[in-house]
Amino acid sequence: MKPCAPSSVFCILSFTFCLLTTCPAATQETTNGFAFADFLLAPLRVHLLTATNEAAAHTTLTSNDVTRILGKVNRVWAQAGITFYLESLRIEPAANTEGFRENVKTNTDALLRLRPESSKGTNVFHVYYLKQFGPNGICIRGINFVKDTASLRAVEGGLDEPIPRVTSHELGHALTLPHRQDVTNLLASGMSGGWLNEMEIKQARESAKKRDWIQPAPEVLQKADALRRAKKADDAKKLWQRITHIPLDCESTRLARVRAAEAK
Ligand SMILES: [Zn+2]
Repeated sequence: MKPCAPSSVFCILSFTFCLLTTCPAATQETTNGFAFADFLLAPLRVHLLTATNEAAAHTTLTSNDVTRILGKVNRVWAQAGITFYLESLRIEPAANTEGFRENVKTNTDALLRLRPESSKGTNVFHVYYLKQFGPNGICIRGINFVKDTASLRAVEGGLDEPIPRVTSHELGHALTLPHRQDVTNLLASGMSGGWLNEMEIKQARESAKKRDWIQPAPEVLQKADALRRAKKADDAKKLWQRITHIPLDCESTRLARVRAAEAK
């Protein structure tokens, strides 16, 4: 895996020209040559849990934080040509908070019991944010939990804040990746690195492609355009918005940004 270099982020499509939208030095951002046509769009439901009687189950993250976190997650996952779009943001009271802080010390399933019934769903990835529990984050049977208070050991070229890195790491597990304890890797424990190797990229993409609720970006683009032509502006806008999460600057993403902004 190469560090980000200006020459590594350009990719030529037959009709367009893409580059990663932001690529400051010494951060883990590359598309590995993945172009718009390769990108897979995965729905992510983000839950900001609240609790009046249990501080550990109450996140203080805001919707602005979620926007920033998701942008960084997607710059990590661009190296695998995978983008997580915000399916919905749920700010909601956690369930079964009584005794949570003690219970989670002995059984991480206490985290699963915090999930509000009404916002569970099967055809999306879930990330739940809360204030405090043992590890920085955990993926339990595909369901991800990340704590506000996550802290990591900084490594060269790593992410500049813990929560996006931990979120990206847990989503890696949700895409079937196991730990790999090389210092700068995304699947290393407790460190800030974000790299994936070729095998991990292949495995994550294969896992994504097996889920029929993860769609190739060109298909989403086509559907959005068809809905626009059919004058279904609201439905079209939802699809354009998904595309705007892809951290590429190319003809398709520029069009999506314009369409998402103009649709009523
Ligand atoms: Zn892990």
